[in-house]
Amino acid sequence: MGRGSGARRHFRVEKLAPGVWAAIAEDGGYALCNAGIVDLGDRTVVFDSMLTPTAGAALAAEARRRTGRSANVVVNSHYHGDHTRGNVSFLPASIVSTDRTRELIESRGGLHWKWDRRAMGPALRSLDAPDSRVPLQERALYRGWFEGTLAVKLPFRLFPPDVTFDQSLTLHGSRRDLHLITYGGGHSPSDVFAYLPEERILFLGDLVTVGMHPSAGDGVPMRWADILRRMRSLEVSAAVPGHGRVGGGAEVRRIESYLRELGRTARSARRAGRSARELRQSPMPTKYRTWKFSEFYAQNLVRAFRLTPSERA
Ligand SMILES: [Zn+2]
Repeated sequence: MGRGSGARRHFRVEKLAPGVWAAIAEDGGYALCNAGIVDLGDRTVVFDSMLTPTAGAALAAEARRRTGRSANVVVNSHYHGDHTRGNVSFLPASIVSTDRTRELIESRGGLHWKWDRRAMGPALRSLDAPDSRVPLQERALYRGWFEGTLAVKLPFRLFPPDVTFDQSLTLHGSRRDLHLITYGGGHSPSDVFAYLPEERILFLGDLVTVGMHPSAGDGVPMRWADILRRMRSLEVSAAVPGHGRVGGGAEVRRIESYLRELGRTARSARRAGRSARELRQSPMPTKYRTWKFSEFYAQNLVRAFRLTPSERA
């Protein structure tokens, strides 16, 4: 198989239970985000469609191979491009998310695509430059992100959700039900997660990352931490994050404490009269030093620092 063909370049598939799989993005591939495949018995659901139509097509083929039918429903956990740009590869499946996520894909999705496409050439060139700010061990991850975006065939069209809900939606199957739930926005203005109560499996989108920094730049860290706190009442045997390996309840709690720590660090900086520029220089806590997307840490601190008083509560 040549470069760019075959699912294995983009993700590896892990079986979590009979009829339930996680597709975990590989560094250097064009998926960037993880996905889920769930066989409801009479229908197939895919959770998140990945960064590119290429990775999306590989995921669609994998879902077909594993469940014996094409995906009937694709869920978008939130509007970010790395979770939605593969939607096109699943048509005519229904694309499902919240009303708010549909609005955001329609209002911002096209713009973000244009910005990304324009930024990726220069970003790719500076990735290996002598003054590159990306640590060596993270470069393959970024290279796949940038190259994947540049490899998308034009004209590219986004396909927003055509089935939307406000708070929750249950997909009832002959073998199991999949619960789609939102507790509002935290990582983005609207974040959906999926839950299989019998198997105790969570598909979390970017509400959780494992071994990677979460990204709070488009979110509200304190609301996000509260969403994760509400999730503590769910029994969890496997938690599939938006980025990074499959974890469990401990990984959900770890991101909650990461976000609360951001809040505390930002609060004491405000009290001490420090500037955002000074805050940016804060040392990374040792426990996060091996996490990828390390540049997000300073961005997350600044985001927490700049929250409005109502967002801090
Ligand atoms: Zn995201």
